[in-house]
Amino acid sequence: MLTQTLPPSFPAEYCVTELDALQYSRGCMVGTGIMIGGYALAVWQVLPLWGLPLLVLLVLPRWMINVHELLHIYDEQQLNPFICLMGASPVPLSILSLSYGQIRRQHFAHHAAPTTAADPDGYRIHGHWLQALWNALTSPEQSAGRWIAQHGLSGSLVFDLTVKLGLLVGLAWWDRGAFVVFWLSIRLVYGLGDFAFFRLVHHQRGEAGTFGLTLPPLLMTLSEWVFGQTVTHATLNHDIHHRNPYIAARSLMAARSLTAHSDGDSVHDCRA
Ligand SMILES: [Zn+2]
Ligand SMILES: [Zn+2]
Repeated sequence: MLTQTLPPSFPAEYCVTELDALQYSRGCMVGTGIMIGGYALAVWQVLPLWGLPLLVLLVLPRWMINVHELLHIYDEQQLNPFICLMGASPVPLSILSLSYGQIRRQHFAHHAAPTTAADPDGYRIHGHWLQALWNALTSPEQSAGRWIAQHGLSGSLVFDLTVKLGLLVGLAWWDRGAFVVFWLSIRLVYGLGDFAFFRLVHHQRGEAGTFGLTLPPLLMTLSEWVFGQTVTHATLNHDIHHRNPYIAARSLMAARSLTAHSDGDSVHDCRA
């Protein structure tokens, strides 16, 4: 996994810590409160319906990236059971979607062999961009279907899916109109985030690989403002993340800058 070069002596404070993990997991719980609270306010007509897509746009990408960072730190036994059950979103993405444990195993397989035939995320990386976009928009069901086809249905996954079904039915029963707006917003933002985090960083100029992205300064500032620094920096520096997944997202920009100014040929592993 750690096969490319990084400076051998980047500062130890670049490495991800327990404190980072705590902040990611707290971020998830705060995000859940805001999303469900926002939905309740929309049902009670305190928040206009058009506020729901805005809320989802601001909160969901932060949840997604917090879960991605957690995947590299905690297994499912070390993490809040609610986050484990929900997987990649504070509101169930689908009646057919994976939980944290399966997502973690898939993500580690992606890191082990990105863009190869052994990469379980390859289906949302390769092919025409429209096909990749469709696959990103339907990735909760497709990833779950592929997992179940390969590993079968475990009792814990059945339990998690049943809880998700109950939550979706409960939210829809509360207010069907608000639920349609809320859930479609979640699926659209999740799908576009998925497209950025797999296709855009692993497929450029007709070639599959692992790449960094750059944004003009104004767009960078806008992205940091709307999505937050962690989401922006983790997406733009996905190549650095693949070289060493234990660099904290907050330090990826600094690690890139050190890499650009180093001719070192050894790998510094934060876990070494
Ligand atoms: Zn990747
Ligand atoms: Zn990763």
